[in-house]
Amino acid sequence: MKCPRCGGIESKVVDSRSIGEGIRRRRECLGCETRYTTYERIQPKSIFVIKKDGRREEFSREKLLSGIRKSCEKRPLPTGTIDKLVDNIEAELYNLGKSEIHTAFIGDKVMEKLKDLDHIAYIRFASIYHDFSDITTLKQAVDELFDVKTEAPLAGQLSLFTPSTFKQNGQPRSKGK
Ligand SMILES: [Zn+2]
Repeated sequence: MKCPRCGGIESKVVDSRSIGEGIRRRRECLGCETRYTTYERIQPKSIFVIKKDGRREEFSREKLLSGIRKSCEKRPLPTGTIDKLVDNIEAELYNLGKSEIHTAFIGDKVMEKLKDLDHIAYIRFASIYHDFSDITTLKQAVDELFDVKTEAPLAGQLSLFTPSTFKQNGQPRSKGK
């Protein structure tokens, strides 16, 4: 924890309160006496993620967060939305009580939530996650998107399919291999 004002790392706790799965602490910097709040989460135990190639890796909230952030870049989402989404997914994963979870399960969870949140973010995430090497998989993701809202008019969301959008977001990326 660094003091937001002077960057000092020494502080004393003036108040602690548990909130949900974590603890909120009120701290006072020993250097400049600025008071600030920190949130610490309690993690029950480690979850390992089984990747597509069978390798296992410890579940990282940060990784999940940065992946979702990337998909939501420049989308008009209220502050805190992404953190809350990640909180929810994380809680669901821990609630399963499993020590190992397939990466596909987590990916599907994210897709499910992004679908309700923002269609552009959903497609972006899907394109990274499924690595859309073929157009069929992309089409499936798009079809799924519209299955949910078939009764509702698609105003605003149709812009998703303009050629310029595809140029920006529809290209398969194969990062992190
Ligand atoms: Zn300070």
